[in-house]
Amino acid sequence: MIYLDHNATSPLLPEARQAWLEASEKYPGNPSSPHRLGARADNALNEAREKLAAMLSCHAAEIVFTSGATESNNTVLHHAARGLPQDGQVWVSSIEHPCVIEPAQFYFGKRLRLVPAGRDGVVELDWLERELKRARPALVVVMAANNETGALQPWREAQQLCRAREVPFFCDAVQWIGKLPSRGLGACDWVSGSAHKFGGPRGMGFLKVPASLSLVPLLRGGPQEETRRAGTENVAGVLAMVAALDAREKQIAANEAAVAEKLRDAFERKLIDALPGSEIVAAKSPRLWNTVSALMPEADCQQRWVVKLDKLGFAVSTGSACSSGKEEPSHVLRAMGYSSADAGRVLRFSAGWETAAKDWNALLAALESINAKRTPRAEKAVEKSAAIG
Ligand code: PLP
Repeated sequence: MIYLDHNATSPLLPEARQAWLEASEKYPGNPSSPHRLGARADNALNEAREKLAAMLSCHAAEIVFTSGATESNNTVLHHAARGLPQDGQVWVSSIEHPCVIEPAQFYFGKRLRLVPAGRDGVVELDWLERELKRARPALVVVMAANNETGALQPWREAQQLCRAREVPFFCDAVQWIGKLPSRGLGACDWVSGSAHKFGGPRGMGFLKVPASLSLVPLLRGGPQEETRRAGTENVAGVLAMVAALDAREKQIAANEAAVAEKLRDAFERKLIDALPGSEIVAAKSPRLWNTVSALMPEADCQQRWVVKLDKLGFAVSTGSACSSGKEEPSHVLRAMGYSSADAGRVLRFSAGWETAAKDWNALLAALESINAKRTPRAEKAVEKSAAIG
């Protein structure tokens, strides 16, 4: 199987596996226990916290370990709902992951405002700048890189705009971390990350919280994580996550993106030539080096293409893993101004550190062969969608 679904989850890196195995043997104690085995586990946890904080450019005390980004993101929205002014609004970019948008809708209802994004897949900074002059929300949320299109977001600029107005800023950096340098992300008040998106174990993540904040915890119980997140810490998971990120940061520093981007761009050019009617989403925007979001030349077809590609040995996706399988068109593409019909023909190919030119070429050949076998009914659908524009 050629795996092109890294934005959904990535394979465990050998460094992470090794760290997990070692930690499982070396630290059998519960970090909260009063004996030496507990203290040893606690020290290992705190060393990992220091290391992660250094990679993100923040303080170790600002890191809370969680079960993944869904928990981290829910924690932020929960805190905002309980700990910030009752009449405060939250402004959330319209292209965020559902695990940001749904809790924002749940906790804030009519007090949620969506920050628009353009056809280029990028959040509109001008809108944010203008609106911040008129009102002061309790929280602004802009992700670092979009999981469906790969489009990089102006999180640094958004953070600065918010800082200037003393508005808390939250960045879901799940798709950025492990693909681009994490350095500097700690400048945001809140940052979430997820280990399994960068070669760490599943069910492991973190949240960077503002310094000296009294967090309203989502999970209540024991005093773990300075009472910010109850539950026995997953020591081996934390150590494996930090080992994975350390390994990824070294590859990033070795200029991995430049090489990978060339392969990806060559594939996109060939795809457009080989499949008339196809289109690359956010083609002109700076994007993650691994992500291709492409409209196929056939209406309402994405599941069929995914199944056919699967039979030919390719694991690809229709968008975010959480929404695939659902019938609704991608809210990200809809927010970018695509029609439901066009959003229904999107496929996402998300490569990884192991993806080579031959993998992209094989995918192209598979797409061409599927396209060549399209039925006359499908051809009619193409003509119809072209006529609608
Ligand atoms: N945020 C983004 C941008 C994501 O892409 C994902 C997963 O697809 C998540 C959050 C959720 O992460 P987790 O699987 O760790 O809950």
